[in-house]
Amino acid sequence: CGIVALIGSREAAPQLLEGLRQLEYRGYDSAGIATVDGDGLHCLKAEGKLVNLTTRFEAQGAPGQCGIGHTRWATHGKPEERNAHPHLDGSGRLAVVQNGIIENYRGLREELQSQGVLFRSETDTEVIPHLLARELERRRAAGEQASAALLLAALQSVLPLLQGAYALAVVWAEVPGALVVARKAAPLLIGLGEGEFLCASDTPALAGFTRTILPMEDGEVAMLTPLGIELYDAAGQRVQRSPSLLSGTE
Ligand code: GLU
Repeated sequence: CGIVALIGSREAAPQLLEGLRQLEYRGYDSAGIATVDGDGLHCLKAEGKLVNLTTRFEAQGAPGQCGIGHTRWATHGKPEERNAHPHLDGSGRLAVVQNGIIENYRGLREELQSQGVLFRSETDTEVIPHLLARELERRRAAGEQASAALLLAALQSVLPLLQGAYALAVVWAEVPGALVVARKAAPLLIGLGEGEFLCASDTPALAGFTRTILPMEDGEVAMLTPLGIELYDAAGQRVQRSPSLLSGTE
């Protein structure tokens, strides 16, 4: 129901939790975050109120300057911790949050299962990390090196397989200095800070962070690093667009 994603030079988790707090008004049944750093991927999830997730974060931590967060309003799969986002690939090094519905998830799930992929949840979303992992594996087997560009290319290859309306964000522990996001018929906005970027599904999550925003357009994909943003249209062409000022925050 709500998405946040952050990359920059400070610890991501506190700002992700703050962003999720600003999206609470939309309603949700569970929440989660995933961060990445040189040690790998750190994922925390909790059923119920955000305070349950915050308590878990205080006990276990989630280090890293890059991460994603989600408040879930279940559409596919009961509101239980295992169905809460983020959802991971089999290696546990790639994580995805998604708002919306992947309408053709059943067919994709059966195809992946027939290839030996094990699913841990009942959600429509879990096909995405597995599809990305399969694509990344193919490309690496063909000699491509792990990089932000590879993650972006993998996402661009996987998106045409997904039907439905969605906004999503992905982190990969192989590349802790980048995250990728995409939207189709669901909102997603990028907030531009100084050396840090926050992406969210709704403006309240950005309001306390920056007034400079770049709303993503339908079908667009973006790669965020601490150095800047690269925006692409659905055909994979680079898009240049100026940010605008968030109104009502004087
Ligand atoms: N369809 C997804 C799920 O049930 C996402 C729901 C949402 O937007 O919160 O997990």
